[in-house]
Amino acid sequence: MSDLSRLTGVGPKREKVLAEAGIATLRDLIYHLPRRYIDRTKFTPIADLAVGKDAIFPATVRSIAMAQMRMMVTVEDGSGTVELVFFNGVQFLRSRFTEGQRLLVAGVPSFFRELQMVHPEFQSIKDDQEIKGEVLPRYPLTMDMSEAHVEHKFLQKIALEALQGFTFSDALQENHRRELGLLPEADLLRSLHKPATAEEIPALRKQLKVRELLPLSLRLEAIKAERRKVGKAWPESAKLKAALREGLPFTLTAGQSESVSAITACQAEPGQFCGLLMGDVGSGKTVVAMLAAANVLEAGGQVALMAPTEILASQHHQTLAPFLAKAGIRAGLLTGDTPKADREAMMADLQSGSLNFLVGTHALYSGDVRFRNLGLAIIDEQHRFGVEQRKALGAKGGNPDILYMSATPIPRTLAQTVFGDLETFVLKEKPAGRLPVKTRLVPPEKRKDMLGFLLKEAVGGNQVFWVVPQIGAKSPTAKAAKAAAEDPDIFVPANKRPEEDIASVDKIKTELAAFSKEWKVGIVHGKLPPEKKEAALAAFRKGELNVLVATTVIEVGVDVPQANLMVIEGPDRFGLAQLHQLRGRTGRGSAQAWCFLAMPNGDWPVETFDRLAGFAETTDGFKIAEIDLRSRGTGNLEGTDQSGYGGLRFTDLIEDFELTQEIRRYAEAQVAGAGNVPMKP
Ligand code: ADP
Ligand code: MG
Repeated sequence: MSDLSRLTGVGPKREKVLAEAGIATLRDLIYHLPRRYIDRTKFTPIADLAVGKDAIFPATVRSIAMAQMRMMVTVEDGSGTVELVFFNGVQFLRSRFTEGQRLLVAGVPSFFRELQMVHPEFQSIKDDQEIKGEVLPRYPLTMDMSEAHVEHKFLQKIALEALQGFTFSDALQENHRRELGLLPEADLLRSLHKPATAEEIPALRKQLKVRELLPLSLRLEAIKAERRKVGKAWPESAKLKAALREGLPFTLTAGQSESVSAITACQAEPGQFCGLLMGDVGSGKTVVAMLAAANVLEAGGQVALMAPTEILASQHHQTLAPFLAKAGIRAGLLTGDTPKADREAMMADLQSGSLNFLVGTHALYSGDVRFRNLGLAIIDEQHRFGVEQRKALGAKGGNPDILYMSATPIPRTLAQTVFGDLETFVLKEKPAGRLPVKTRLVPPEKRKDMLGFLLKEAVGGNQVFWVVPQIGAKSPTAKAAKAAAEDPDIFVPANKRPEEDIASVDKIKTELAAFSKEWKVGIVHGKLPPEKKEAALAAFRKGELNVLVATTVIEVGVDVPQANLMVIEGPDRFGLAQLHQLRGRTGRGSAQAWCFLAMPNGDWPVETFDRLAGFAETTDGFKIAEIDLRSRGTGNLEGTDQSGYGGLRFTDLIEDFELTQEIRRYAEAQVAGAGNVPMKP
């Protein structure tokens, strides 16, 4: 039983519903804040109603009409009339209206032949006096909450009840609170649940954001200040870098050269340097890191390169070792599989300094791996940039510089706030000779044309990778979608794990078989036995299959560079970052690659079209990350969920960018003034 059960009206059923919506403790409840408010102190005359704009007004019932499953109640307020439409429970609802009755109506007008309000909230009023002066909170609700009658009023009531007698250990220090003129936490939250006026809400919201941003900024500034005191300056290497550059089979792109110079300048500064090098898959990050390593190696420091998997680690070792050897640097490989004797020999060489470059997996983190003079740790394909992890690495002795490499682009706004203690470097262009993938949205009526095009290509020897999304979080059920359309405060909970849509894989195979006998179609999904999966993949690699239909479950392992065509079913169910990663599997060769986003039947919300059209127009991973950030918010961004900052719930990094900078400057000044501000975790 949770603390919530102590609240009035919260029994086992509601407790369960709340928990499923992520509200399991009193604190969760108190921080489950209204997403918007309805100002009952100001009414909208019916004549001024506008589609999509919240309105509340008193009106008089003029007529009531019943159809089979529908009831229309026409109301009037002197400025005009509007129809209230109800679909469910019509028989029951009928008894609640009478002609001439005075009502308070609240909702969002929509348009169907004429302006109307579908399922508005309403309440009977006896005396117009009783409806004056309240600001109504509108909370995010799940379907289940709404079904259990856990709605706005109730949430407000129990939140206020929970606030009474809840002792806050305000994470914000008193001096900051006063300096910034912020309310005590409890007062702020009480006001957010029950504002006295609508006018005070923006300022309250801003305080909430400041409270969220400040600890983060203080922590990052303190870490930065700490880093300036430790670590070494690594001057630019004169000879080794030139020698390594000589040995390259290609010339650096402009972006690579710039990144090398910028990183070199940072390395030369006193203190510990922490950087993040971002660039799409194939943009050539490795060579940049290699040249940065030269600065350290020439000055007698050691370099560690960490990769997330053994395959990647040994790939790196294979390409780098011969190349480094030519310049007189020996590179070792350490993974979990390295035999004990080899491992011990390597450890001795690291200590003596005869081994200066070590490639490996997370095995490099283990306690017995000690360097004589570790100057740079390069961390490849990192999707987690936790502050704690950087600290752990620093503790490995010598406070080495750290350079992350990542193919998941992080928007500037996010990089400067959440990862504000990292210097960022970006590889924008790819090495010459690669054509950008052409991306098209395919509406259902164009699907036949798409199939025709793909068949022609497939018969001509091209191969198609056909991706089917997982079912789950981002695919609202019909029922949930309908409810969400009717009430803007209902959202579909994202706490169900996505499942594989195996049925869709089979359906597409059938569709393709019916379309033509000329192509060979294989399928792969997570439920297939491993040997069947392998067989299908192998056949596709060898070109025996023209089309491979697959769920995203297998996405990670599949690498078929010659498959130059891709179809993505249900693209609306993917985050853009994920779409970008998927699309990146094509366009590896010199031929023109195509990516088709196959839109299913149905009415598409404008935002979905905009989002996907924006994606189709650009192959710039950073632009895509910005679009993604805009449409999904920071909470859902890939790469940040485990970043150690706990997520920003209230701050919108794009809208509130100015505020984030203001807070950062404040934190900087505070840390500079106080030397080191002790922070609560
Ligand atoms: P990623 O950024 O995905 O880690 P890599 O560093 O593995 O990319 O580089 C991808 C491929 O491009 C490698 O085969 C690499 O040798 C090659 N490459 C890197 N830089 C250039 C360049 N300037 N010109 C041509 N090929 C390059
Ligand atoms: Mg790489």
